[in-house]
Amino acid sequence: MSIIAFIGLGHMGGPMAANLVRAGRDVRAFDLVPELCAAARDAGVAIAESGEAAAAEADVVITMLPEGRHVLAAYGDGTGDGLLATARPGTLFIDSSTIAVDDALMAASRAVAAGHRALDAPVSGGVVGAENATLAFMVGGDEADFVEAKPILELMGHRIVHCGRAGLGQAAKVCNNLILGISQIAVAEAFVLGERLGLSHQVLFDVASNASGQCWALTTNCPVPGPVPTSPANHDYRPGFAGALMAKDLGLAEQAIARTGVDARLGLLAREIYREFAEGPGAQQDFSAIINTIRAQAEPGASGR
Ligand code: NAD
Repeated sequence: MSIIAFIGLGHMGGPMAANLVRAGRDVRAFDLVPELCAAARDAGVAIAESGEAAAAEADVVITMLPEGRHVLAAYGDGTGDGLLATARPGTLFIDSSTIAVDDALMAASRAVAAGHRALDAPVSGGVVGAENATLAFMVGGDEADFVEAKPILELMGHRIVHCGRAGLGQAAKVCNNLILGISQIAVAEAFVLGERLGLSHQVLFDVASNASGQCWALTTNCPVPGPVPTSPANHDYRPGFAGALMAKDLGLAEQAIARTGVDARLGLLAREIYREFAEGPGAQQDFSAIINTIRAQAEPGASGR
């Protein structure tokens, strides 16, 4: 059975590595934070002395790191230190971090130049999905490598989609989150407008969720308490998906928009709205709490009633 190195044991990586172990896989893991290594060890994960030590023994190296610069730093350039230099030739590298398409392409080309194979495999589903092994994986890279990776990814998720060549997993992720960011703002604006017009939250929800306004931001992540009891709005906007992560992902979208020259005005506006939101307490709240900013910014006293 293949040995899996797992690098990055944070909010997502910790439970993902634990799920691999629970499924009987041989995992050697590492994080720069000793407390996270200790927590993973408590969950049954074998901890290596370093990322390089884990990669040296592995057939598959999974990284779950904050940003592209962390992935590129951890990979190295294939010489000296770094995961690429210490792994055996032909090792399959799977990066599940959410990073820019360009960084994913750079990581993949460095891995291939060092004699390895590489997939970008970002996820959606958040910490709950990581804990329950219900993540969705969007995978970019060669078909044969995807086929090899799929049974491993299935131990951490339930929907594994091959999106095409290297970088297209990150492309799918960035496009999805562009839709998500814009639609969460749209739903929030509609609820605040409805409030001003005298419409009850429940009535607006009942109408829109059965009409053409229907979307995930409404029916799962409803930004007002009441209509969807499991949405973060019912729990003081505890994430869920934190405002800081939405701001980060829309920043990646902004990079992709700039590179491709797409006329994505709503996307760029959503990026700006969430950038401001994440400069304050919104960073730690679920991103649906944007409704409170929108409500607070409504003109006092004005009403259409
Ligand atoms: P996190 O900050 O909790 O965990 C990242 C971990 O990587 C940290 O513990 C850090 O110490 C470790 N790390 C950094 N460089 C390292 C290195 N060289 N070697 C070993 N460990 C190193 O972040 P997270 O919430 O787990 O998210 C990870 C990735 O998944 C991010 O790209 C994020 O955007 C994405 N993501 C997160 C969520 C979510 O809900 N948290 C959802 C989907 C996608």
